[in-house]
Amino acid sequence: MKQSSYFIPTMREVPADAEIASHQLMLRAGMIRQTASGIYSYLPLGKRVLKKVEEIIREEMDASGAIEVLMPAIQPAELWEESGRLGDYGPELMRLKDRHERDFVLGATHEEVITSLVRDDVKSYKKLPINLYQIQTKYRDERRPRFGVLRSREFIMKDAYSFDTSKEGLDVSYQKMYDAYTRIFKRFGLDFRAVEADSGAIGGTDTHEFMVLTEVGEDTIAYSDQSEFAANIEIAPVHVNYTKSDETEEALEKVETPNVKTIEDLENFFKQSSDRMIKAILYTVNEEPLLVLVRGDHEVNEIKVKNLFDKGVVELASPEQAKQFLNCETGYIGPIGLPSDIKVVADVAVQYVVNAICGANELGFHFQNVNPERDFTVSTFTDLRLIQEGDPSPDGKGTIRFAKGIEVGHVFKLGTKYSEALGANYLDDQGKTQPMIMGCYGIGVSRTVAAIVEQSNDENGLLWPKSVSPFDIHLIAINVKDEAQLKLADKLYDELRANRLDVLYDERPERAGVKFKDADLIGLPIRIGVGKKAAEGIVEVKVRKTGEMLEVSVAELNETIQTLISKL
Ligand code: ATP
Ligand code: MG
Repeated sequence: MKQSSYFIPTMREVPADAEIASHQLMLRAGMIRQTASGIYSYLPLGKRVLKKVEEIIREEMDASGAIEVLMPAIQPAELWEESGRLGDYGPELMRLKDRHERDFVLGATHEEVITSLVRDDVKSYKKLPINLYQIQTKYRDERRPRFGVLRSREFIMKDAYSFDTSKEGLDVSYQKMYDAYTRIFKRFGLDFRAVEADSGAIGGTDTHEFMVLTEVGEDTIAYSDQSEFAANIEIAPVHVNYTKSDETEEALEKVETPNVKTIEDLENFFKQSSDRMIKAILYTVNEEPLLVLVRGDHEVNEIKVKNLFDKGVVELASPEQAKQFLNCETGYIGPIGLPSDIKVVADVAVQYVVNAICGANELGFHFQNVNPERDFTVSTFTDLRLIQEGDPSPDGKGTIRFAKGIEVGHVFKLGTKYSEALGANYLDDQGKTQPMIMGCYGIGVSRTVAAIVEQSNDENGLLWPKSVSPFDIHLIAINVKDEAQLKLADKLYDELRANRLDVLYDERPERAGVKFKDADLIGLPIRIGVGKKAAEGIVEVKVRKTGEMLEVSVAELNETIQTLISKL
């Protein structure tokens, strides 16, 4: 591709609204442009990378036995009514009407469509198992679209859905996807980890997230320093053998604590450590109050709270609701002397505190020498807190450490949720009707591009891994006014392409400095500079990633390039 007639609008300045490296670099290298908040156009370089990423995904999906289809982005709302998700999915689901006032949604995901498709065309166990996938645009009206295409409102996803006749069959389909994902993310050269995202038992394999490890990740991974345990902190169970100290229980005492609101304030005021405090946070479950207690040095895990309630909508109460239910400001909430209609649940650790400190439900007052069960009652003590660094690993081996990750893929055992709701049944070998057993498997294709950029850059720009680089080689005619240089560069352009290499050829009438800066920014793995020694048949080869520079004679160029590429 000749750069003078191509479209790579690079930028020198770091765009002010781009906070993280991948977003900045994708804009600066001319890969993407924002069309509206969370909605992007892919320019030629971005599109090329996307295509390579898609091709690798396709190869591995096909190799795993999955079959490609393409479903519509626009879906009838009735299908979502049938599955029961039209309400549940909430404002992330983009909704629209056609000219006949019929309701539609823009596909945020495709369980409904695929299940109805398979329901109508697969009737017998003889046609199962089957795994269908697509690479398609998805729409989610994210509350906070950010970081460029990492969290956007329109994005490209590979989604696959497996249909089996037994749980064991699903296990096999799931494992095939897990293995395919491992191969895919390895081919992208990513540093990643598959982590448990199961809300059930430890060691459960019902769902895994594939996380690219990077500081800017929105997810936190809890992993053991001594075993294979790794889970999203959202779900990581806490298994600690707490013990009660043998201190005698002192008499409950109300203390005036003006302007003492936070745990830190309390530590300073009472000269006690935060593990002797009880933090009370007011939630609402279907608008009814729920008080959640954790120890002062712990944080509530909202997902664990939500999991206590099958169908309820659990939300953090607003300061106004705190006033309404407790007649109190949030900084002073506590479990003692509550109105009888307020339900209290607590994390296990709370059961073991002795002579603790908590809010008194009165502005400017706290209680000290609080002892659970003596001074207040709790309907359930259970695991409700976030795991922390330093906690024992829940599998009993080692200590928990944290890492940040970007979720690029997700494999999930659905079971019969959608097949039952939508009636996707088959006849088994006895002629009996059974619901199909499903799994679903997603890869954020556009997010993966950003994740690769996030892990492959330096201060000068991108460092493409060979497998997804938009071109293999950046050929630069350093001074196009010099006839020998231009002539040799033109010749090499033809020869390299004849050797099946993808070449971006910079023959623009720009200064050398501009060209080199752009080349570093764009970050193709190998750069060939045709400069002053062109007349002697010598060119300069640079490996972008290592900075290695070689002077190579034209006669040896092909061999040198092949060797360098094989090492990438
Ligand atoms: P997240 O927790 O990041 O919102 P999710 O759990 O909603 O992700 P899934 O529904 O499992 O995501 O979607 C499958 C994959 O699609 C994710 O693993 C992720 O890579 C990608 N993805 C999800 N939401 C977005 C988005 N807003 N922008 C880009 N990619 C996304
Ligand atoms: Mg999401």
